[in-house]
Amino acid sequence: MGHVNLVTGGAGFIGSHLCEALLARGEEVLCLDNFFTGRKANIEQLLGNPRFELIRHDVINPVVLEADRIFNFACPASPVHYQHNPVKTIQTNVMGAMNMLNLARDTGARVLQASTSEVYGDPAVHPQVESYWGNVNPIGPRSCYDEGKRVAEALFFDYYQQNRVDIRVIRIFNTYGPRMLVNDGRVVSNFAVQALRNEPITIYGDGSQTRSFCYVDDLVRGIMAMMDCEGFNGPVNLGNPGEFTILELAEMVIHMTASKSELVRNPLPTDDPTRRQPDITLAREKLGWEPTVPLAKGLRKTIDYFDALLSGQ
Ligand code: NAD
Ligand code: UDP
Repeated sequence: MGHVNLVTGGAGFIGSHLCEALLARGEEVLCLDNFFTGRKANIEQLLGNPRFELIRHDVINPVVLEADRIFNFACPASPVHYQHNPVKTIQTNVMGAMNMLNLARDTGARVLQASTSEVYGDPAVHPQVESYWGNVNPIGPRSCYDEGKRVAEALFFDYYQQNRVDIRVIRIFNTYGPRMLVNDGRVVSNFAVQALRNEPITIYGDGSQTRSFCYVDDLVRGIMAMMDCEGFNGPVNLGNPGEFTILELAEMVIHMTASKSELVRNPLPTDDPTRRQPDITLAREKLGWEPTVPLAKGLRKTIDYFDALLSGQ
């Protein structure tokens, strides 16, 4: 092996699990982050490892580093955080992608882009297949993220065509697990924290919208399989095909925490996708990958993580 990996967004939720998995198989990791939604606590257990280095940097600025593999994960993923400064979110997606592609072009590194199921928008095709072009509002509150990620995909394939850069593109569907922020704002962390505190569970809209939740360990296996595979650029969906309504998720979390929380209704955010489920036929065929962790098992680990965090352990 002996790869030197650059992981942008490496101090974030998925990035930190990825850094850990790469180190565990004996590789070197350069973790780059501006700590917008990432935390040093996510990677502090890695700081003593001689094969791990931490770099504080913002991907909107160019950087020269020696790595033969680049995982471009820098970008806030929660709607609350990516809508906080939408112009910055577009910069991160577009300039960040360009800077990593230029680095890959100049060094010959392989570069993998963390794209998203959001490129399908509020999908008219269900479940979502990679050949579907999506249904995205170009000027709504989610556009900075959705369109930013779509431009990044376009850039990846343009650099592939024009400069023969060795690209990989994955479309990640809702992923959850330990190390999400307490104030992350995404549904699994919100519900787990609210239930553990016996506070009201905030259902946006009527809760009939669906999502398909992938446990982070499964996702990380898929990310590494895509980076390792030869002769396939993607895009490829990575997610768990199990589809649940938001109400079903709330009921599971309440049950698993034996919580006294009640459900409250909040307005449905603008352009909130009504349903989402990955078709993972391509990932199965090309990568031999599929998720193995059922929602109940992954939720147990996630709830236990937040329980320990909230009780100060
Ligand atoms: P996260 O917010 O926990 O992690 C993002 C990381 O990127 C953070 O550490 C943050 O500080 C860093 N970052 C943000 N802007 C940066 C910048 N300009 N320069 C350097 N670092 C920057 O989110 P996550 O869930 O770990 O998501 C990681 C990646 O995966 C993102 O690109 C996201 O779009 C993608 N993704 C995640 C999901 C999911 O369900 N978690 C789904 C689809 C796509
Ligand atoms: N959601 C909710 N309550 C919350 C947070 C989110 O009902 O406290 C809903 C949200 O409206 C969406 C789904 O859960 O329909 C997933 O939201 P999240 O922000 O986790 O991810 P995304 O919308 O990007 O898939």
